[in-house]
Amino acid sequence: MKKNGFMIKAALGMALTAGLMLYCGTRTASAAPTAPAGGSAGGTPQGGGRVESTPEKGSGRAESTPEKGSGKAEATPEKSNGGPFDAKEAAASTPEKSSGSSFGAKETAAPTPTKAPSQAQKKVVILATGGTIAGVGEQGKTTGYRPGTLSADDLIAAVPELKDVAYIEALQICNVNSDDITDKIWLEIASKINELAEDPTVTGFVITHGTDTLEETAYFLNLTVKTDKPVVLTGSMRPSSSISADGPMNLYEAAATAASEEARGQGVLVVFSDRIYSARSVIKTNTYHTAAIGAGETGALGMVRDGKVYLYETSAKRHTKDTIFDVSGIKELPRVPILYFSVDADPDLLSYAGESAEGIVIAGAGAGEFSETWKKEIEKLSIPVVISSRTGDGIILPDNLLCENTIAADNLSPQKAAILLRLSLACRVDTGRLQEIFSEY
Ligand code: ASP
Repeated sequence: MKKNGFMIKAALGMALTAGLMLYCGTRTASAAPTAPAGGSAGGTPQGGGRVESTPEKGSGRAESTPEKGSGKAEATPEKSNGGPFDAKEAAASTPEKSSGSSFGAKETAAPTPTKAPSQAQKKVVILATGGTIAGVGEQGKTTGYRPGTLSADDLIAAVPELKDVAYIEALQICNVNSDDITDKIWLEIASKINELAEDPTVTGFVITHGTDTLEETAYFLNLTVKTDKPVVLTGSMRPSSSISADGPMNLYEAAATAASEEARGQGVLVVFSDRIYSARSVIKTNTYHTAAIGAGETGALGMVRDGKVYLYETSAKRHTKDTIFDVSGIKELPRVPILYFSVDADPDLLSYAGESAEGIVIAGAGAGEFSETWKKEIEKLSIPVVISSRTGDGIILPDNLLCENTIAADNLSPQKAAILLRLSLACRVDTGRLQEIFSEY
């Protein structure tokens, strides 16, 4: 993560919506008026801080009371003398306020008037983990920002239209660059969702997440949450302080999907740039484009337009309630490194991994291939070795395996194959069944 050479100075913020409350553990505190739109005037609740955004309760409709100006928070990010980015100052600043449709707009827009009254009775829980969607940097810029800076309440306050979708409740799970997501965080999210899914008042879940590893968290949850209720991940490619930040629309569309009947029973989904993807197929394909999230040759399942979900495909693979993976008693996942083959790649890496890990995934060339020197080393290994491809798309079939003691990853990317292998090992799946598992999931 790069550090910026600037510091954001003063900022003031006021909550857009009445009743924005911040709960920390058993203590309840009124949230400091919170900067909408990419800004943060309040503290960042960590470790399960709970934020609720209260819609026009009971009315079933958002009254068209724009509260113009009340949510407006102006910030004047300024360049420092090249000092390191100051996260605290950034978190206490308001880069630019949102109209609810764009972080860049200066005026507070009126909440979108009403949907069907029944919509307001729905409850969506947002689990915030950080990433660029919660990132703040130099005003207008798309690079050199700090991810995981804004809190869950900032994200919610930036999109007043959320209250037209559902009653929003939020949990701050962590606030990190998604490259710092760990198996512990995955297990915590899975356990939280499994617990909250039992609550009949909860309609669905949104997880805000950095895009770097979003596909991994999505696939892990796809295999471990035990609910039909929609679980939808989203993020953004541009930080909240950039021109035309993509976070607010992605969050709105993710919440609309999580509140929808269409998304029930579809497995964990990712909503990004108007499209709906299955957790199994989704992959990040670009470093900066706002359309960096795709699904290779399998494509998207559907789309979202103006808060309405249009679903055209379903996932054919086993997921959520239909998996054998119960992680309720599990505290950590086994180590499974991914070894990337390239010309002259060092075969000693394989023997090292064979001694220090419980399984290995190979990112092979083409249809999962590698050199004769790698083949010799792999044949000596006694831990499970799964063969995937470094190409980023396409299937590996058992017929094409170069070594008999290996397992074909089907069309799972190396990073997803590692998740399936880690879970299989953690749940003590018979290693003789691993090829079957990789075909089923
Ligand atoms: N590095 C960021 C992250 O994954 C990138 C993003 O969110 O787009 O947290």
